[in-house]
Order: sequence, then structure tokens, then C-alpha cells
Amino acid sequence: MQLYQNIHSNFSDRKVQDLNGRYITNAHILPILNRLPKGFSYEIAGHSERDQPIFMVKAGNGPSKILIWSQMHGNESTSTKALFDFIFNIEYLGISSFLEHCSFFIIPILNPDGAHDYNRFNANGIDLNRDAQALTQSESLVLRTIFNTFKPDFCFNMHDQRSIYCVGGTKNSASLSFLAPAEDKERSISSNREQAMGVITKINNVLQLFIPDQISRFDDSFNINCVGDQFQSLGVPTILFEAGHSGDYHREDTRKYMLIALLSAIKCISQKNLPKDAVETYLNIPENKPLFFDVLIKNVSVEVDGKTAITDIGILYEEVLTENQIHFVPKISVIDCLKDYVAHRFIDGEFEALALSKNKKIELGATISHFLINRGQFTLFINNN
Ligand SMILES: [Zn+2]
Repeated sequence: MQLYQNIHSNFSDRKVQDLNGRYITNAHILPILNRLPKGFSYEIAGHSERDQPIFMVKAGNGPSKILIWSQMHGNESTSTKALFDFIFNIEYLGISSFLEHCSFFIIPILNPDGAHDYNRFNANGIDLNRDAQALTQSESLVLRTIFNTFKPDFCFNMHDQRSIYCVGGTKNSASLSFLAPAEDKERSISSNREQAMGVITKINNVLQLFIPDQISRFDDSFNINCVGDQFQSLGVPTILFEAGHSGDYHREDTRKYMLIALLSAIKCISQKNLPKDAVETYLNIPENKPLFFDVLIKNVSVEVDGKTAITDIGILYEEVLTENQIHFVPKISVIDCLKDYVAHRFIDGEFEALALSKNKKIELGATISHFLINRGQFTLFINNN
């Protein structure tokens, strides 16, 4: 437990300082790759559709082979930050034995074009997580070639999820979510899938100590075009990691918990300490539910289509890249009674009228950065960090 306490207490000093916020590209990671600690090296594993290098970090010479990739979706960068925090803290945390028991192939940014554009998709507008069977894109082929030649014992498929998810039916944000993807339509529990479930239960046990009731499980419907499902069906225990919202939009807090998740996963693989009979424990982790808004204005009087009514307004931030920075633009997502929903920020309208600055209308999709309710001024800006 000391391992996790140590990084938890000292994280702001220990994280890789030159990676910050949501916009992480090849240009951000290259200087860091050029000063990797002892025992780590990097190479170019292949190229993207726009001919950008896909970097891969290698370390360790142990028998348990772990293949990890992040930013398959270009705008999902939290795990990329956590992976570099892992690499740069092995010595500090006294876990060099991980490198004796495991071998790592780590692809920090699988989709460098999407990362550059701050886009989920690659340069051709393809979702690489639906291309695992057809393999039409260079990035998919790079990952599959590495999978075939490295022959991993475990795969970590690292993503970010939107801020809309709660844990089961609770009011808790899903700070992190996990999945042992299905490998067939019947969602059979094969031995490799059970191993993935076992690793997740270990991660969950550790995270519950730091962020209780903020961990959930993703839906396991099967899609062979998804990389996790594909690799699971090829017999390799594969774990989906999803970084979610735990209070800050720049995901520096989630980054810390993702690092703890990574450490706990690698520790149990390194020590060959996978639990037996993990299925039930795994299935007891609550499922994700999409019930969160970023902001929820309750009981406000608004004029919609010429009629005045008391209603609720659900707002979601849209992440927009401008001048190399991500801006969180608040947009009206739903205007309706939202009594069963929760939010990261609640504003009680107290049945008063909501007023926007002039020429602005309350309608779906409208940007709502400032507004007045009963002479109280509200702003929904998120500060840059
Ligand atoms: Zn993703």
C-alpha cells in the first residue's frame, strides 16, 4: 500500500511537469522521449496516415509481456500523461523489479494525427477502434503488427471517457472505468477474459481506498471491430482503461488515479498474483450510466418557441482546440425536466427568469457562457491551467 500512498501524497512533485492538460501531441512527448530514464528506450514503430511517427517505448526483459497503447482516440490524453509518470517514477517508487518480471511495449500516442487535430478520429476520419478487423488504416496495421510480433501476455487499451458517466445509479462521477471486453457474442468467460477481470478487481481494490465508489464498469456488448474485443478473441487478456471526470476538466487528478491503476495492474502481473474466481467480484463493480451533465440549471423560467415555462437546462462542455489550447465551451444540450439527472455543477434557478446577453436565444446547441438569474450573474468558464 505504501507504493500507492507514496505517489498519491507526492504526485504534484512527481508527475512529468512538461505534460499538462488535455492537448498532448507528438510535439509534446518527443522532448520527453529524448530523456527517458535508464532501462527505457524508444523507436519509431511505424507511421500514421499523414506520415507522422508512431513512437514506441520499450523496457524490461521479464517473461510477462505487456503491450500498452494510449491515444488511439487522438483527444484522449489522460493515460498518455499517466504512462510517462509511470516511466519516470519507477526508480523513485522502488519498483525496478517490474522490469525484471515484465517486458513492456508502450505506444503513448497511436493516433498522432488525431492528437494533433484534437480529434477522436484519424486523419481519414476513421475511428481506429472500429478498424480492428478490417485494418484499413496505417495506425491499425502498426498496432496489429506489434501485437503479432511481440505476442503479449496482457494488453492495456487506454482511453478517456466523457464527463457524462456516473457509477451505477449513484450520484458519483465515474472517475475511472474498466472493461474486460467480450470475445464473442455470448460474452463467454474464457480463461483470458477471466484473467483480465482479475486484474481489474485488483485495480478496483486499490482505487477504492483513494476514490471510493467512483469506479465503474463499461458495457460488455461484443463488437469484433473494436480492438479490445479483437485482441481478447485472439486469446490475449485485454483490459480497457477509461479515464473519466474526477473534478477537474484538465484531468490532472484523474491522471494520478490512472497512474495508481497502472501500478496496481502491473504489480499483480509482475508478482503473478492474479486472483482466482474473480468473475463475481468483477461483475459486482457497478456499470457506467450516462446521467451527468457538466452544468444543470434547475427550475428556471425560460421562453422557448414563444412560450414561457419552468424547466431545467442541461449543459455539456464542448472541447475546442484554438491556438494550441483546449477551451471548454458550454453548450445547451437538453431543455426539459431533468429530475433523474446529476451534474458536476448545479445552479438553482428558483423559478426565476434566465436572461442571456442580448441577441442570444435559449435553444439547443447554443453557447451559454454567461447568464443572469434574478440579477445574479453566472459564468461557466473553465480556467486554463
Ligand atoms: Zn476512446
